[in-house]
Amino acid sequence: MKQGLLPDATWPRLQSRLSGLAWPAVPGQQGLQMAALLTQLEQSQWWPVAAIEQAQLRQLDALLEHARRHSRFHAARLAGLPPTQAGGLQECLQPIPLLRRADLQSRRAEIDCDRVPPGHGNLSLAQSTGSTGEPVSVRRSGLNDLIWMTMTLREHLWQRRDFSQSLAIIRAGLAEEDTERRGISWADWGSPTNHLFASGSSWGLNLQTDIVRQAEWLRSLMPAYLLTYPSNLTALLDLAEDDPERRAGLGRLMQVRTIGETLREPLRMRCRQLLGVEIADIYSTQEIGVIAIECPQGGGYHVMSEGLVLELLRDDDQPCAAGETGRVVVTDLHNFATPLIRYDLGDLAEADGPCSCGRGLPKIRRILGRQRNLLRLPDGRRVWPASGLRKFSGIPIRQYQLVQLTLEKLEVRLHVARPLSADEGRAIAEHVRQSLGHRFEIDVLDFAAPLPKGPGGKFEQFVSCVA
Ligand SMILES: [Zn+2]
Repeated sequence: MKQGLLPDATWPRLQSRLSGLAWPAVPGQQGLQMAALLTQLEQSQWWPVAAIEQAQLRQLDALLEHARRHSRFHAARLAGLPPTQAGGLQECLQPIPLLRRADLQSRRAEIDCDRVPPGHGNLSLAQSTGSTGEPVSVRRSGLNDLIWMTMTLREHLWQRRDFSQSLAIIRAGLAEEDTERRGISWADWGSPTNHLFASGSSWGLNLQTDIVRQAEWLRSLMPAYLLTYPSNLTALLDLAEDDPERRAGLGRLMQVRTIGETLREPLRMRCRQLLGVEIADIYSTQEIGVIAIECPQGGGYHVMSEGLVLELLRDDDQPCAAGETGRVVVTDLHNFATPLIRYDLGDLAEADGPCSCGRGLPKIRRILGRQRNLLRLPDGRRVWPASGLRKFSGIPIRQYQLVQLTLEKLEVRLHVARPLSADEGRAIAEHVRQSLGHRFEIDVLDFAAPLPKGPGGKFEQFVSCVA
């Protein structure tokens, strides 16, 4: 069933940026540009796959032409390739070598273009720590920001959010404003929502704030929507489960929005059971912007094909069929400053077939996350290790982390209320072995303090050091 931007009773109220004009609304410059894009996206999401690929190919052609002329790195790689008109999207992309994170780290000066079309707006530097802790930086233009904002608005509209309600945000990057860990407040939902729509109040709190303080802050606000990282939501749900008082702050929630880390299915179920609300997850990175958003009807994630081409590649570099898992390789169709052509993000995802909603935008069934967040078994399989350690035979485990040191050896790090006995340590090691289905050699370490968060304030429940 079609739904989305077409005006109806639930169409959110447009906000005028022209003084003295209440209705009909005239948005500001950025609002107008986003409205123009959203109107086209409303159409293109329903196009057949072939029509979407044809439009992508036209844009890819413009990108490759620019990269050939203005980026030394890409000129060398694209030399001798047939023109894009010669084949389909796949045939055009496949001969181009993958761009690795390491290339961005060591050869960005060659990758950057010596010229960017002036209409693409001001350039800024986007930095991503990534969960590997090796930072990459990418130049992005005003056009890239515009597309990021538009896709963010598209996600709001797909989810049919009620902009008149309140929004609480707990995330990294609020540090400069929220130095006191008291949180900050805004009159509306901020950019990009306020470029087009009237919205209710919003509040922000720094992710580094102690979790008990976070729960108190939420209780004082009772927000309708909460935006945060999956690991932080897990910690909030842990508190809420143990203490109904602390659940109160989550009692008015209509939906939780997650960003920044891989969302696992058990967290969705837990959120549903404890709070009775659903999670809407966004797959995005600092270098690219919004990559995929959840289908409001069919489940899974639709790729934002108007902004990028996403390939899922198997270990033999062939495209994944539905149900197969592969590396996420992305081409940003609009970055003419630091062209990201076949950029290997280091994530793994599972391919999906056509969606029951009827949209032609390709589907990802689920995102498995970074390769380093998957356990590698000696038989070669890579799995997300579900250890179920939080509730363990009455041992007060506040937080846990598994680290795979070698193919055969793991470390279990626990933040506990009291030191563990040797017997408890052995029992936990045995429990982990059983739940992982392999006789790993396991060291259990207990800590009185919270386990440190990784770069960018993200906490990784599982880290593999196995190459
Ligand atoms: Zn769908």
